[in-house]
Amino acid sequence: MDGSFDQREGVQAPFYLAQGDECEVFAAAHANTLPLLLKGPTGCGKTRFVTHMAAQLGRPLYTVACHDDLSAADLIGRYLLKGGETVWVDGPLTRAVREGAICYLDEVVEARKDVTVVLHPLTDDRRILPIDRTGEELEAAPGFMLVASYNPGYQNILKTLKPSTRQRFLSLEFDFPAPSEEERIVAQESGLDPARVKALVRLAGKLRGLKGQDLEEGVSTRLVVYAATLIQQGMPVERAIRAAMVEPLTDDEDIKRGLLDLVTAVFG
Ligand code: ADP
Repeated sequence: MDGSFDQREGVQAPFYLAQGDECEVFAAAHANTLPLLLKGPTGCGKTRFVTHMAAQLGRPLYTVACHDDLSAADLIGRYLLKGGETVWVDGPLTRAVREGAICYLDEVVEARKDVTVVLHPLTDDRRILPIDRTGEELEAAPGFMLVASYNPGYQNILKTLKPSTRQRFLSLEFDFPAPSEEERIVAQESGLDPARVKALVRLAGKLRGLKGQDLEEGVSTRLVVYAATLIQQGMPVERAIRAAMVEPLTDDEDIKRGLLDLVTAVFG
């Protein structure tokens, strides 16, 4: 099911460089059984943050990448035919509720409308998950936490979270890290030397400045890490940048040429 994975106690927390007090807010939300919404552009560290916090708190983690075909049944579970028998199979949300795990719904607004209906009784103080198909009404085990993310940038009017849903979550806003922090992250993730990382981060800043004019979205930290990784592996700088920081941003040839001019200005 949809990229869900389980992280058990004792697993070392993956590297995460905090931008502020988000780790404290997450821990407080978990301690008080409150759901949490992470808002911010793609590739700025939201998934890494949740993975890090789940390991810190010693909770299993179920991650679901939401898409426009994802329904409540995909999260809750369904009857499947197994060797001539019909058996109930829990979905990732039900497993998380039973085990007291953290369930992370990445890009939750992409999911079908019936998903929000399921989340409502889980996000108020009842903390229950009704499973219509089996007649069960599950009470969330201690430790269960619902975390969802969305990117306010590329919503259209039809795809935004309704106030009645948003107001059930604590919210944290994420953005790309400040240059000095992004340099630390990219160096750590790629192993590339700091001087070369610095130039890539400078370029990323310039590319982000084009958001709203030529580009719909600025380059993500994820893509800067990709570029640095390719360079560290021996790929020529220009080639790596084109593959990781130019081609993923646009299909428009004129805009691409403009971006490559920026690359030359920074590296030339
Ligand atoms: P999102 O979930 O916001 O789309 P990710 O969490 O997948 O983004 O981040 C993409 C990559 O960027 C991560 O795999 C990691 O390499 C890097 N990254 C971004 N922010 C951080 C951070 N604060 N600490 C550590 N790594 C980060």
